[in-house]
Amino acid sequence: MSDAIAVLNAGSSSFKFSLFAEEAGAAVVVARGQAEALHTAPRFVAKDGTGAVLDERSWGDGTKLGHDGALEYLVAFLRKRLAAYRLIGVGHRVVHGGLEYVKPVRVDASVVAALEKYVPLAPLHQPHNLAPIKALLERAPQLPQVACFDTSFHRTQPSVAQAFALPKSITDRGVVRYGFHGLSYEYISGVLPDYSARAARGNTIVLHLGNGASMCAMAGGQSVASTMGFTAADGLPMGTRCGNLDPGVILYLMSQVGMDVGAVEKLIYQQSGLLGVSGVSSDMRTLEQSDDPRAQAAIDLFVYRIGREMGSLAAALAGVDALVFTAGIGENSCALRERVCRDAGWLGVALDAEANARRATCISTPDSRVSVFVIPTNEELMIARHTRRLLAAHTEREVA
Ligand code: ADP
Repeated sequence: MSDAIAVLNAGSSSFKFSLFAEEAGAAVVVARGQAEALHTAPRFVAKDGTGAVLDERSWGDGTKLGHDGALEYLVAFLRKRLAAYRLIGVGHRVVHGGLEYVKPVRVDASVVAALEKYVPLAPLHQPHNLAPIKALLERAPQLPQVACFDTSFHRTQPSVAQAFALPKSITDRGVVRYGFHGLSYEYISGVLPDYSARAARGNTIVLHLGNGASMCAMAGGQSVASTMGFTAADGLPMGTRCGNLDPGVILYLMSQVGMDVGAVEKLIYQQSGLLGVSGVSSDMRTLEQSDDPRAQAAIDLFVYRIGREMGSLAAALAGVDALVFTAGIGENSCALRERVCRDAGWLGVALDAEANARRATCISTPDSRVSVFVIPTNEELMIARHTRRLLAAHTEREVA
């Protein structure tokens, strides 16, 4: 039997999971999959490391399986189909760790209670990230669980980059810029030396462009600034989030349009961004294929705002050596990368259009002042590694 670590990334109506086993000192995926539409028409699929389907199951329309039911199904699946692996711990992606959690932590009831405080700061993610932790604490209290935070990587930022221009009494309540997608940026930072020593040592802007989208300025692999702030609604427009918004708009909507807090929350997290502007879809692939002019307008705004943030992060770094595209859109949309790189020409970016079209790893020309890379992110691997490390440290302490 070999030891294995499960990684869970739970959203509002779905969760993704991976099972990592240790082979020759490295974490290797032995299964991965997802459970979706948990409250409407649940589906479960699990594949092995080569992509072959291990298990697939659909429940009928209207079935409310919920996170609990899906988790139960996942555990039964692991026991039945992956009995050769002994589950020694579960690592979770948790969006918000506040100022308190600057690195991954072994979870118990008191940690969960502390993390509940951040639910209002990440309403789209935090409650769902915590749901499986609570379910497992109840059902399998002896199974070690580790929470890994999207905010931790950004705690290296200088205090000016984390501060809002607000009175100290408010700042002292933890109202600061946290930054998110930290597990993705940490992974990219870790592999950058394999791609370019100059990018790893120098000033690099990483563009994590997925359903959630943000950019991070890294100096020597450490975060010095990011587009996301107190919540993951800041910065770039996203699939359904508006990104950077004049706070006066919220006051106007509440005082003049009569929207209450719930309606504003729904607007900025679920009805805006690519979906809100296009009225067509939150999905970049759908927008790129659409001939609706509003779909084009949504992409135009996304590209424009990436360009504006690029300038801001370039200023924070006082110069840029490299750009890295990652996540669903960044890794897959040649058209989007081409437009972003064209707009960044003033920074010294020269795109190799042919390399971009054939999805090469380095997509800048040899004489481009700024090198441009496309690097697939791997947040799950980061979580598995943190979980393994923390469990090993714990075992060592117990032995000592
Ligand atoms: P999440 O933030 O949910 O992890 P992903 O990183 O998977 O999201 O990114 C999802 C986004 O990536 C969607 O907008 C999707 O349309 C986009 N995407 C995936 N593949 C492509 C592609 N080939 N071309 C353009 N966009 C793509």
